[in-house]
Amino acid sequence: MDCLFCKIIEGSIPSNKVFENENIVAFHDIQPAAPIHVLIIPKVHIASMNEVSPENMPIIAEIHQVAQKLAVDLGIAESGFRLINNCGRDGEQTVHHIHFHLLGGAKLGALTG
Ligand code: C5P
Repeated sequence: MDCLFCKIIEGSIPSNKVFENENIVAFHDIQPAAPIHVLIIPKVHIASMNEVSPENMPIIAEIHQVAQKLAVDLGIAESGFRLINNCGRDGEQTVHHIHFHLLGGAKLGALTG
């Protein structure tokens, strides 16, 4: 499958990883939108939030646990952060392997449409 994030997971495309276990990888976004901008992705290929099923819901929950841990490790837990999933065309999802953006390290602007 021609998926950029599957290639990052297997290591054929380089990334600056901050976390990895048997289910999940997290790495610094190459175009950071905040001082801290990490992408957290499952190793299993799920295209978007639209494809999340009851069977893979545990991995979505685990991604939130990893986000909580990374927020502590990266020093943004106390000041606060955002965890964002973009889904589909109107959500401006550009990579079709589900991912969660962990953003922080500065006061983030109000979300607008
Ligand atoms: O939510 P969306 O699909 O727009 O986010 C994709 C993200 O993947 C972008 O923030 C982009 O900078 C990031 N990216 C990356 N490494 C790549 C390709 C894209 O961090 N090799």
